[in-house]
Amino acid sequence: MAVPARSRHGAVRLGGIARQQREQDVGIKRRRVSLRLDPRYARGAGDDCGASTIDFALTDLQQSVRAAIEKICARFDDDYWRKRDGDGKFPDAFHGALAADGWLGICVPEAYGGSGLGIAEAAVMMGAIAQSGAGFSGASAVHMNIFGLNPVVVYGSDEQKRRMLPPIVAGKEKACFAVTEPNAGLETAKLQTRAERRGDRYVISGAKIWTTTAQVADRMLILTRTAPLEAGRKPTDGLTLFFTALDRRYVEVREIEKMGRKAVDSNQVFIDGLDVPADDRIGAEGRGFDYILDGFNPERILVAAEAIGLGRAALQRAAAYAKERTVFGRPIGQNQAIQHPLAECWMELEAAELMAFKAAWQYDNGMPCGPAANAAKYLGAEAGFKACQTAIMTHGGYGYAKEFHVERYFRESMIPRIAPVTPHLILCFIAERVLGLPKSY
Ligand SMILES: Cc1cc2nc3c(=O)[nH]c(=O)nc-3n(C[C@H](O)[C@H](O)[C@H](O)COP(=O)(O)OP(=O)(O)OC[C@H]3O[C@@H](n4cnc5c(N)ncnc54)[C@H](O)[C@@H]3O)c2cc1C
Repeated sequence: MAVPARSRHGAVRLGGIARQQREQDVGIKRRRVSLRLDPRYARGAGDDCGASTIDFALTDLQQSVRAAIEKICARFDDDYWRKRDGDGKFPDAFHGALAADGWLGICVPEAYGGSGLGIAEAAVMMGAIAQSGAGFSGASAVHMNIFGLNPVVVYGSDEQKRRMLPPIVAGKEKACFAVTEPNAGLETAKLQTRAERRGDRYVISGAKIWTTTAQVADRMLILTRTAPLEAGRKPTDGLTLFFTALDRRYVEVREIEKMGRKAVDSNQVFIDGLDVPADDRIGAEGRGFDYILDGFNPERILVAAEAIGLGRAALQRAAAYAKERTVFGRPIGQNQAIQHPLAECWMELEAAELMAFKAAWQYDNGMPCGPAANAAKYLGAEAGFKACQTAIMTHGGYGYAKEFHVERYFRESMIPRIAPVTPHLILCFIAERVLGLPKSY
């Protein structure tokens, strides 16, 4: 089944919570709580009653997204992903299958070849991919397509969108996102890659690190500095964004050997005099950080969905194994020491998903979603990690064997904890922006 077109059921309606969330949504104006209560429970309610919507069900559209993705993923079984994890080959067949049915443009406007659906639908899609057993090997192979090009969608000119988006949606080109630098880390303002203006072109030189899919990418979305740090009103001024060809004559890409997700490469990238037309600059010079900031929240929501999907894959395997494995004359799953951690994982994954869909609902409805998106990423990543760890312990020694897959999940479950932002920085964000505590760094 191909990706459905936008429907009126676009946004998940999880939290018609018409109540000001003082601590969470700075900036949302107070709205009156309107409750339509069952008469049995309405006794004592005042006249201030109207309609309220709290709907935890996936919409028809979201269910069809999930079913279609599951069907595609069923063609790529656990052995496919185990082999990719062993040989490190990019999962081209999987990427191609999603591209063929139009899924790579799920969030790209229809005018540029996409489906123009919301982040809630994209979260359903990415969660289903990870849960299928593809984990982060599958999710990261397409992650950049799903929301990575948001700055182009929002700030690119019409000419740029027509030129840049359709080849990515069609799967003819792959893109990578180069922000992190060896000497800057999480302090993005300190990045040192320079773009110097020369007439109608820029010349870029510098070094990036951890750039995912740079081995296979045709293009990169790259954040550079065009004005000195000291010159701006704030440290993030003077950063400029480009979406341009990854011309390997001027860009050396060196793969980093890493713990997991071998099929999807992450790299050191050395750029020496990359000549870029000014037409590839996205938006205004010096405003690049503001543009990528826009994409931070939806990306956190997707990463949360992916981590939760991976955790569920691990939990399913663990529960199945606990029913089958017999030791001391009974299935290990009959022991509470095995049952309880699994039950705890289920609850934590469910709770994290509620937060992720709340954040998606806020984003798709144009509301501020920073606290919920960050909380979802934190909770989803931690719950996913715990589920993977618990799955290994449930399997005992077999959990350590590649044949049982959970060790692969476990290695991959570290990724959403670290990238695109660490749990420490999320806690700092919540402490500062939600609880009003002083900035700690
Ligand atoms: C598999 C993988 C894929 C990635 N893909 C990409 C990609 O495609 N593109 C890209 O640009 N980047 C990518 N990254 C980079 C990733 O976003 C960064 O690793 C992450 O943002 C952390 O930055 P850092 O590694 O430089 O950590 P550092 O900034 O060096 O921080 C190190 C540790 O110190 C902690 N720390 C630092 N400052 C504070 C503070 N003030 N308070 C509390 N704790 C603090 C951090 O939380 C962290 O735990 C990827 C990373 C990985 C592992």
